[in-house]
Amino acid sequence: MASEPTNPVALSLSDVTVRYGETTAVEGLSLGVREGEFFTLVGPSGCGKTTPLRLIAGFESPTAGSVAIGGTRVAEVPPEERNVGVVFQNYALFPHMSVAQNVGYGLRFADPPGGVSREKRVADLLDLVDLADAGERSPEELSGGQQQRVAIARALAPGPDVLLLDEPMSALDARLRERLRGQVRSIQRELDITTVYVTHDQEEALAISDRVAVMRAGRVEQIDPPRTVYDAPRTRFVAEFVGDNNVLTGTVVEPSADRSPEPLPVRVGEETLAIAADAIECDRGDRVTFCVRPEDLLPGAETNRLEATVESAEFLGSSTRTRLRWQGRELIARSEARPGDRLRIGFSPEDAHVVSLDADG
Ligand code: ATP
Repeated sequence: MASEPTNPVALSLSDVTVRYGETTAVEGLSLGVREGEFFTLVGPSGCGKTTPLRLIAGFESPTAGSVAIGGTRVAEVPPEERNVGVVFQNYALFPHMSVAQNVGYGLRFADPPGGVSREKRVADLLDLVDLADAGERSPEELSGGQQQRVAIARALAPGPDVLLLDEPMSALDARLRERLRGQVRSIQRELDITTVYVTHDQEEALAISDRVAVMRAGRVEQIDPPRTVYDAPRTRFVAEFVGDNNVLTGTVVEPSADRSPEPLPVRVGEETLAIAADAIECDRGDRVTFCVRPEDLLPGAETNRLEATVESAEFLGSSTRTRLRWQGRELIARSEARPGDRLRIGFSPEDAHVVSLDADG
């Protein structure tokens, strides 16, 4: 991770709500982004990802709650004085200006940091975004990914404390997106700049971030490093949103003794499955929701063996995504198979992650 978890908080939202008439864009949102951290807001369209960025940039005011940058509340601070750089989805470069002039435009409110000349600052930034030779060119001569790098250089020109990126890659094709995300991450690391990134693409969020906030309907469901979000989703929504996942709900057959290392037997449909649930206290009849990743459903597994029917199999290059039907439920696995095949797969109790537990009655 680029940032130590102990880094001071660079910006925070405290119990923020934003309403537009009848629409609530975000509700009771609290989060803190640490200095030098790459922090991503991810969620489906309309879930309220862009609104926090607009609040931080100062384009919007909260209906309730507060925003602080560097420990200071910024309610009264206009956008141009917040020392925040913003890059939007549509890079909006000026076509009548050269690439260098576009980057220089970022200095309209501020002198270059470090007392260097504007020319030097622009040249340094073009170098940083790997476009050192493109200064005299017109933005229209550049690829989408290059244009977006110019937009990033422009946002960085005044030396902002915080960089905000709103779906900066969504207009690019998949290959360019993947390349640009690596470049964005290395620029962010080189500058060690606190960055808040917005995307609806969960794979992108996992790939690029130190921490991810998964949002749903104006609220945050989980804030954690990518691996934790993937391995230990806290809610059913996160489990289903982040990567393919098999989410199953069953009933506790026999409660575990306190902190018992024995797997917990859970009745799912006609089967009793064993799941590792050592830290969970529960009673007979409680409803348990747990998830198992497709890559953990294996033909050779010795426990939790299921017999399922293959509904479809998509060849994805490095693996095959197999949709199975088991006891009326859909499961996703990674096995090679053909539609109509019967497949025996299973999973080990440790690969089942408990998402939630609801007491019976
Ligand atoms: P998308 O991924 O589609 O851009 P988002 O997750 O970034 O969406 P926001 O743009 O933060 O979501 O918007 C959250 C909710 O607030 C949406 O329902 C949106 O329609 C609504 N909203 C946002 N801005 C306004 C506005 N100016 N007036 C009215 N409603 C708005």
